[in-house]
Amino acid sequence: MGNVDGQDVLKPVKRILLKVSGECFCPPNERGVSMDSVNRLATQIANVAKMGVQVAVVMGGGNILRGAQFKASDGASSIQEATAHYMGMLATIMNGSALHDALEAQGQPTRLMTAIKMDVVAEPYIRRRALRHLEKGRVVILAGGMGTPFVTTDTAAAQRALELDVDYLFKATKVDGVYSADPNKDPNAVFYPNLTFEEAITQNLRVMDQEAFAKCHDHGMPIMVFNYRKEGNLERAARGEHIGTIIR
Ligand code: UDP
Repeated sequence: MGNVDGQDVLKPVKRILLKVSGECFCPPNERGVSMDSVNRLATQIANVAKMGVQVAVVMGGGNILRGAQFKASDGASSIQEATAHYMGMLATIMNGSALHDALEAQGQPTRLMTAIKMDVVAEPYIRRRALRHLEKGRVVILAGGMGTPFVTTDTAAAQRALELDVDYLFKATKVDGVYSADPNKDPNAVFYPNLTFEEAITQNLRVMDQEAFAKCHDHGMPIMVFNYRKEGNLERAARGEHIGTIIR
């Protein structure tokens, strides 16, 4: 890492995988899809693609539905938990469709690929095809998670980051990075600009779900966690500025 104007500079960023949670698709504390939020996200992604950085985006779906809402132990629900997880995956495809249109409306060539085959809506996810799209400067939206229940889209993000051989997994969140505690609840929460995987594990810091984190740890995939609500943050990160928290 070098240093310019007091900012850490990371290795050149040529290809990233951006994990966007469902919460990026609507205003704070709301649910569903707000095209205002989607357009803002699309502008940031398009700006990064225009810089020549290859961008794959893994969709979350929590703004619509999470499978764990329908636990089998919840007697009130007649929806099986596995079914609910499939519903959650479909939610990520709805978000992906919205982002696809928003990016194309801004003139950014984009492909939507799904882990659940849905030919009339999107291309199936095929690793080599996704790589070709990226090489041609198309933003690749990856929806439907892994296509299997009982995992989250964090796991899909880690898996696809490794498969697509990206330089960084960017995790867009609503806080500035990783803290010792939830900064919205604990005023004494300490912010960590840098962490090793081991530090995050020993201090029990929740960066992503455990399965996703273990995948990144095992294969040395660096993670950058930053606040997507701060205008320009995604572009700064893609330029190689050290914003938020870096775990490596
Ligand atoms: N999901 C799943 N398999 C996957 C990815 C997602 O079953 O490979 C389901 C799971 O129920 C999850 C929901 O889809 O809760 C929405 O994804 P997630 O909760 O990860 O969205 P986010 O929290 O990022 O908005």
